[in-house]
Amino acid sequence: MKAKNIMSGLKIENLRVTYGDVVAVDGVDLQLERGQIAALLGPSGSGKSSLLRAVVGLEPSTGRILWQGEDVSQVPTFRRGFGLMFQDGQLFAHRNVAQNVAYGLKGMSRSRVRSRVARLLEVVGLVGYGSRSVAQLSGGEAQRVALARALAPGPALLGLDEPLSALDRSLRERLSADLREILLSQGTTALYVTHDQDEAFAVADRVGVLIGGRLCAFGSPAQVWSQPPSAQVADFLGYGPILREGAAQEIGLGKSAAMVPSFGGEDAAKQRTPSVVALAPGAVRVVAGISEVAPGLVPVRAPAQVLQVGVRRGHVQVRAQVLARQPFTVLAVAPLCADFAKLEPGSEVCLAVDPRSIAITAE
Ligand code: ADP
Ligand code: MG
Repeated sequence: MKAKNIMSGLKIENLRVTYGDVVAVDGVDLQLERGQIAALLGPSGSGKSSLLRAVVGLEPSTGRILWQGEDVSQVPTFRRGFGLMFQDGQLFAHRNVAQNVAYGLKGMSRSRVRSRVARLLEVVGLVGYGSRSVAQLSGGEAQRVALARALAPGPALLGLDEPLSALDRSLRERLSADLREILLSQGTTALYVTHDQDEAFAVADRVGVLIGGRLCAFGSPAQVWSQPPSAQVADFLGYGPILREGAAQEIGLGKSAAMVPSFGGEDAAKQRTPSVVALAPGAVRVVAGISEVAPGLVPVRAPAQVLQVGVRRGHVQVRAQVLARQPFTVLAVAPLCADFAKLEPGSEVCLAVDPRSIAITAE
């Protein structure tokens, strides 16, 4: 078998971006194989755009940025051969769709430009749109045109800065899957910045979590999701509640023999002390009674009181307060049936937890 070329793709070493006293990117190391897509997740102001702009060469930085083994951090932007696509597409309003896509195709014969533009419109699913005015496009179509334009020069690496965040959720879901297919079909290595977890996990081979300019997690979507390296990352990903080990133990969710989480991994459970127990969304279920806990689920050993009940897509959602020594609230899932939908605030419910949806991580 051929050994993998370790110099292939992107390698970032100790990258720092500062604006006066503000440290926007704080010593980031990251490695991405050629052709892979990495999503960088993080709250607003966590340094995502700064990191992206530094990689493509639009922001001064220190540290090293290696592409195919070569340090490009001092190479001028236009010679890096990287591209960038923004949230609002920034299409030229006075040019039609084809002219927008052709924008980056300098020095090509007219017939080659025409065929390349036609090919790209096909790739992004807009065959026949060439002569339309960009003013007539929907938000989703405009972003497809922006993507075609960014891909036109065949960038080795494409940065995408929240490319779908101006679109509504259902469109974003569809387009993020399409975007992944398109980037893969072009073999484009991509850094994809977003603050939307679903989008990041839908689009990426690698997911990174940036908090306060630091890359706090980086790995495959399954790794990052199942083994968040800290309570802070778990919290950002939407885990909750996140319980100190003692509190978890009190209600029967400690990392005892019966409760070694398959999801968080045994290693994680052993290595990390002091540890916290983080419950993934959907981990907590409402059950009819403590004797009716399905095999594989672990009963919560504390009374719980209903605070609020609502019907959601395909299930009933119950917000409940667990009356442990230190009470905390949970969002529990119940099957969509009348008994559960009728639960009154103030009534008692029995809860159980799916241990596969628990991660044990560091405080
Ligand atoms: P994100 O894209 O994750 O929202 P940014 O990279 O835009 O984060 O910003 C990271 C930090 O750097 C923030 O504190 C922001 O206020 C600051 N920042 C970004 N751009 C500039 C700038 N041009 N001048 C000064 N501070 C900036
Ligand atoms: Mg940004």
